[in-house]
Amino acid sequence: MKHFKDLGLAETVLKAVEAEGYTSPTPIQAQVIPAMLDGRDVLGTAQTGTGKTASFVLPLLNRLADDHQRPAAKTCGTLILAPTRELAAQIADSVRAYGKYGRQSVAVVVGGVKPGPQIKAMARGVDILVATPGRLMDHMQGGAIRLDQTTTVILDEADQMLDLGFMPAIRKIMSKVPAKRQTALLSATMPKPIRALANDFLSNPVEVAVETVAKPIELIDQSVILVDRSSKRRILTETLSSNDVERAIVFTRTKRGADKVQRFLADAGLSAAAIHGNKSQNQRTKALDAFKNGSVTILVATDIAARGIDVDNVSHVVNFELPNIPESYVHRIGRTARAGKSGVAISLCDGAEREYLRDIEKLVGYKISSTGNGGAGDEPEPRRGGRNGNGNGNRQPRNGAPKNARSGNRPPRRNKQKPRPAAQGAREDAQPGNEGDSDGLARMLGQKPGGNRPSGKPGGPRKSSRRRSQGGRSENRQSASV
Ligand code: AMP
Repeated sequence: MKHFKDLGLAETVLKAVEAEGYTSPTPIQAQVIPAMLDGRDVLGTAQTGTGKTASFVLPLLNRLADDHQRPAAKTCGTLILAPTRELAAQIADSVRAYGKYGRQSVAVVVGGVKPGPQIKAMARGVDILVATPGRLMDHMQGGAIRLDQTTTVILDEADQMLDLGFMPAIRKIMSKVPAKRQTALLSATMPKPIRALANDFLSNPVEVAVETVAKPIELIDQSVILVDRSSKRRILTETLSSNDVERAIVFTRTKRGADKVQRFLADAGLSAAAIHGNKSQNQRTKALDAFKNGSVTILVATDIAARGIDVDNVSHVVNFELPNIPESYVHRIGRTARAGKSGVAISLCDGAEREYLRDIEKLVGYKISSTGNGGAGDEPEPRRGGRNGNGNGNRQPRNGAPKNARSGNRPPRRNKQKPRPAAQGAREDAQPGNEGDSDGLARMLGQKPGGNRPSGKPGGPRKSSRRRSQGGRSENRQSASV
């Protein structure tokens, strides 16, 4: 088993890692850290919760420890881009924690909060800037930051960053960074079409794939309950009332759905907060903080909380509604069983969601064990005019099936028209996407790194799922609604 000191990291970084209680690098860290220290571009895929953040943050800090040159005013040496505000804040926290014995400066630039303090934080130049794309572009346009001195760019949750909703912003941002730079793209899922796009930004990258991408961690006890739509609330309340539930995230597909679920859980006497893209940033932060500090034990969330968010001891993930993008399932359930712990993922699947379940099972490559036999009488989920009112096509019907609903018990096929870019302003509400699976600390720590798997060769089923998810609606457009 490797040790951090074998990786050639500086004393200050080693000390911080030790203070975090890490004894040895995880497989993704063991492979990404040396490649980044060599100055290589990296395309890294690894299950969620397996230490991706440290894999790119430690080498960045190492470079600053070795050779710290003060950045010029309104510039940043390293740019880290993330799809959600929460994930950006979390990455910055990791930079601070891993960098606590160093002297680097860090700033966070995200939407939903006042720009003034961000402008001030960048005014004298910053070593590591963590940003969501929309707000960063605003600051670039306003002259608060320029990227012509940036030497390293990291895209976390890279598959989401390269999907349609974000791509125009990412291209613009990358066009302002000098071509001579180091670029690292990291994610838990990397669908093939997105992998092809990654080449536009990478130069002869080292490809690191730890374990089968999109395969959920084995430490998650997954199950599906086949239910009637009308009994979902009762079953959810019963599930969450169990003594085993220490801390749970309940996922819905829509913002309105998240609010409704939060309300009926509160009415049932359960302590729940909701987080989604229609909440103010202050409310989002409050809800996440309350969940993290244990003052509420249930977080009801859209996919905004599905990617990257690392909260300790989430014992249960419950899909009140299955996601219509199969990769989101992997990312959602990756909120539990992190850093070697185990967890439970329960999905309530009504009759209209069976096709989503089939897509998920194709992606993960096995059948998820199921109980119950409800759902036969549920109406299909209609598509609202191809693209629905908010541009994502993934809402539940309000009042039964619309005109174009098909008969039977199937959800609508996602249409295959050319997807349109996401609306301006929607980008920063995209979710964190991800994390498929991690293997828990035992496996994380290297017993079986899983061998490098050439990226660009993901499993077969993913292809059809992705193709469908890109027709009609991109992941980001889905995200844009959360
Ligand atoms: P991440 O995938 O970066 O979100 O990390 C998942 C969790 O693993 C976080 O709670 C980290 O603190 C933890 N972690 C990261 N690296 C290590 C390591 N080498 N040993 C033990 N835990 C780690």
